[in-house]
Amino acid sequence: MAYGVMVSLHVDESIYRARLQAVQQAARSAGIDAVLVTPGPDLRYLTGYEAVPLERLTCLVLPSSGDPVMVVPNLEVLAATASPIGSLGLGLHSWGETDDPVRLVAGLLPGAATIALDDHMWAEKVLRLRAAMPDAHQVTAGPVIHPLRMRKDAAEIAALRKAGAAIDAVHAEVTGLLRPGRTEREVGRDIAERILAAGHVSVNFVIVASGPNGASPHHEVSDRVIEIGDPVVVDIGGSMPDGYCSDSTRTYAVGEPPAAYREWFEVLERAQRASCDAIAPGVTCEAIDEAGRSVLRDAGLGDLFIHRTGHGIGLETHEEPYIVSGNALRLEPGMAFSVEPGFYETGRYGARIEDIVICTDDGFESVNSRPRGLAVVEVA
Ligand code: ZN
Ligand code: ZN
Ligand code: ZN
Repeated sequence: MAYGVMVSLHVDESIYRARLQAVQQAARSAGIDAVLVTPGPDLRYLTGYEAVPLERLTCLVLPSSGDPVMVVPNLEVLAATASPIGSLGLGLHSWGETDDPVRLVAGLLPGAATIALDDHMWAEKVLRLRAAMPDAHQVTAGPVIHPLRMRKDAAEIAALRKAGAAIDAVHAEVTGLLRPGRTEREVGRDIAERILAAGHVSVNFVIVASGPNGASPHHEVSDRVIEIGDPVVVDIGGSMPDGYCSDSTRTYAVGEPPAAYREWFEVLERAQRASCDAIAPGVTCEAIDEAGRSVLRDAGLGDLFIHRTGHGIGLETHEEPYIVSGNALRLEPGMAFSVEPGFYETGRYGARIEDIVICTDDGFESVNSRPRGLAVVEVA
């Protein structure tokens, strides 16, 4: 038993050590002297430490050469050392309630000319760091961290598969929850419960968009009562215990929807399939967007597809790469992202089909496998 625990810690450590070294290498190539990372997905990715962003400064100080150091408030030391940080052997600099942690960080980086700050760092901390290091040029750390996060390793792909299976299990129950006379909010509450029951530790979003609400891509839930004939867009996701996220959309209809809607939905299915079939290493993100968009455009629905085709996913629901016109980034095996075309007709209805896919050596793998066609709920 103890032996097993030691082995798993050893594996974790080597992953984090390699990630820290890769960021240091990228920082050196970019002419960055140090990377500062406060609690959030970047810190979790680099160290395994899942810390909550708070007013007290917790910060990974990663010089481009030399040993990384964690600056941690005294009262968070136990939590930090219980995380993989404890076994990584990072130097821990703790600070007391009356100390100035920003000056502590500045003191660790004498003469640093360019420092990179994680993309989600609070403005208040950014500005205090600027005041403490007036000669250092501040840049965002995204360019040296996100290229790594975007390319998922085997363990991350396995984590996304698990998350995908968990959200599929929730979609499998949705037809049983949709009934005329229920409100979107009631259905949404039942779905949220099932997202947790399926193994997620948090519900990140629940969209139940019935009838005309379906025309708003980010509608959440409302007190609208579901009526016979309504299409219902259900887009749901959560985070698993390891931090990896799920995100999947299926569109349902409560009773028979309008005939024109069915026709459009068949076009949408072809569009979603066309984007997926275009996935291969070397293909640009914008080409994946165009593959599906052109199917909708050819059917006269181009103006109704009002958002990008997709977003990367991992420790965050929305991260790089973005599948959007203008993004010439070329796909590589291990990149994970959503393919989620839709159509949105204001005042009437909307539709979306969304899978999380992973670029493989010769195509794609979908982590979601629920049927993609319109799921019609029988009404008596
Ligand atoms: Zn979205
Ligand atoms: Zn979604
Ligand atoms: Zn999505």
